Amino acid sequence: MPNEAAEPVFSIHIVGARGRMGTALIHEIMSSDDLTLASAVDRSGSPGLGLDAGKLAGGLETGVLISDDLAPRRGSIVVDFSLPEATDNNIRRCVEAGVPLVCGTTGVSDTTEELMREASADIPIVFAANFSVGVTMLLRMAALAARALGPDWDAELFELHHRHKRDAPSGTALRLGHAVAAAREHEFSKTYVGDRTRRREPRGDSEIGVVAMRGGDSVGEHTLMFLGEGERIELTHRARDRAIFARGALRAARWVAGRDKGLFDMMDVLGL
Ligand code: NAD
Repeated sequence: MPNEAAEPVFSIHIVGARGRMGTALIHEIMSSDDLTLASAVDRSGSPGLGLDAGKLAGGLETGVLISDDLAPRRGSIVVDFSLPEATDNNIRRCVEAGVPLVCGTTGVSDTTEELMREASADIPIVFAANFSVGVTMLLRMAALAARALGPDWDAELFELHHRHKRDAPSGTALRLGHAVAAAREHEFSKTYVGDRTRRREPRGDSEIGVVAMRGGDSVGEHTLMFLGEGERIELTHRARDRAIFARGALRAARWVAGRDKGLFDMMDVLGL
């Protein structure tokens, strides 16, 4: 559809273009009317190199072929969902070109995080382990509820993910636990309980128990419970497909385009 309202058009480079997230991002860009695909980048030797990025994402031809060289022009935005080993190079390319970066790659090293902090003195960067708008909201609600309800309410967490997920509990469950503990001015590492099977004692007051289930194809489900005397609150987020992360990252891309420099996360993007 033409951009009739003459809204700004954001020009986006996708790094990790052949991956699950890369293709979801390209799909979202192709169905939006204020985003264009500037380039699609994957690793050297990737079997997708030279193929049309749109067709690979299950859509129409875009004329943008997958390459192994990230060369952003000023005025565009880089969105990186690739692998930790690619991130340092992407950060440097963005600094050289003076373009904003949205980074969703997880598992990056402390050195990469440090490089990101240094780079954010020159360019704006949004870095988040979970770009879902719903999960970001849930994190905010977790902190608000923990603070307002006080220590009389017990907090417990449940998460469910597909059978292929390797880590447990999920990073998001741990972040939720951190949010609750921080709101109560506790250290999460001292209150986290991942296994009660070997204990023969009641729960401690400040404990945050986390239960992880694995099976099927669930993209991700998190429930945070606050259990009081005679009442219970359950805050649940269910992810149906990966598109939620892609849509959140592209919302971050539109937002970061208007910033000068600095390191931000999804809370900043949502104004929380
Ligand atoms: P994937 O394995 O399907 O795709 C990764 C892609 O990156 C592959 O096509 C791979 O060839 C490419 N790649 C590897 N090295 C590269 C390099 N040097 N330069 C360019 N491309 C390179 O993985 P995925 O499921 O798409 O996830 C990608 C990343 O995003 C992971 O780190 C994952 O944990 C993360 N992720 C983050 C969020 C979030 O909300 N922040 C959500 C989902 C996934």
